[in-house]
Amino acid sequence: MLTHRQLFFQHVAQTSEKPLALEIERAEGIYLYDVKGNSYIDLISGISVSNTGHCHPAVVNAIKEQIEKYMHLMVYGEYIQSPQVILAKILSKILPSSLNCTYFVNSGTEATEGALKLAKKYTGRSEIIAFKNAYHGSTHGSLSVMGNEYYKQAFRPLLPDVRFIEFNNQDDLKYISKKTACVIAETIQGEAGVIIPDVQFMKDLRCKCSDNSALLILDEVQTGLGRTGKMFGFENYGIVPDIITLAKGFGGGMPLGAFISSKKIMHCLTNNPVLGHITTFGGHPVSCAAAIANIEVIQKEKLVEQVKKKEKLFHKYLKHPSIKSIRSKGLLIAIEFENEKINMKIIHKCIDKGVIVDWFMFAPNCMRIAPPLIISDDEIKNACEVIISCM
Ligand code: PMP
Repeated sequence: MLTHRQLFFQHVAQTSEKPLALEIERAEGIYLYDVKGNSYIDLISGISVSNTGHCHPAVVNAIKEQIEKYMHLMVYGEYIQSPQVILAKILSKILPSSLNCTYFVNSGTEATEGALKLAKKYTGRSEIIAFKNAYHGSTHGSLSVMGNEYYKQAFRPLLPDVRFIEFNNQDDLKYISKKTACVIAETIQGEAGVIIPDVQFMKDLRCKCSDNSALLILDEVQTGLGRTGKMFGFENYGIVPDIITLAKGFGGGMPLGAFISSKKIMHCLTNNPVLGHITTFGGHPVSCAAAIANIEVIQKEKLVEQVKKKEKLFHKYLKHPSIKSIRSKGLLIAIEFENEKINMKIIHKCIDKGVIVDWFMFAPNCMRIAPPLIISDDEIKNACEVIISCM
């Protein structure tokens, strides 16, 4: 009999030569438990997903209740499904009034694809402006707006008419013109290793888009649902985008994504052509039920309000001569080391000692820390002590 480990390498498609290959039996709160009886602190939330922790009882209950009623009924958009309707209403309540219409999908990259199509259809323009070092997903449209050549080169040709500009480069804003359908940006660049734009740059970007009737799409896939110390990352800049995308932490551990805009903009997807953007499983009722409970937990447990204090604790406890710098916005944290080799060595030591940390795709010399927002002060202290002991 082959072990699960052997079967994993033989039959499950691999994304790299060296997957972590931990075999997890169960997960609860900030902890993962493997089949050998080891426990791990998940300090990356399965990459910014488990904001309310793994298997939060309220989320699990909501899933169970919905499964008893119905799972998939029909392709997205045809039937009135109460979990979708209630979730869409909650979103319109917690977002600025212009972001009042939600198109549900399954993942972050699908949300990107939908948002780009929406902007092209609404403006009748084709030019897309994206940012150097941006990550918006792995499908063809998302790859076209990825600001990193290494990960794109093997998959060309990609979308035409895409131009790249730089965070905080005021001069680059001149490229936004009446030909521009949209500008797409993360509110904080995640895979680039937590790169935070200036407030004034984001305000100017917003103005420049408005002046040219180009839509501003802000990607909240990694920053949404409290991670940065605000419910949505864009709230850090005092601006309102035309479209946002959500996924990852949105479903409370279930697969769910969305692109959200105004009723007026979103309406253009309903005709000419009819069914111009469709999805079978988008807004799955079980995922939506989980997402409702997830938002309720974030609100009831006042998780967003505690993020800044917890961020400060990481800064307090993570002091070591090997650390070159720490960049953070809330609980999205990058610890910079001299080079990739040192970082990888420390990461693997941490995992061996039961603290799961990671690197960033475009910043392999930086350690990723993005814990569940429910992590306690003591757990932060313990986890940081382990990390320091690995340097
Ligand atoms: N946008 C951002 C900012 C992301 O970080 C990611 C995932 N790392 C995506 C989009 C894509 O999400 P998904 O993996 O669900 O397609």
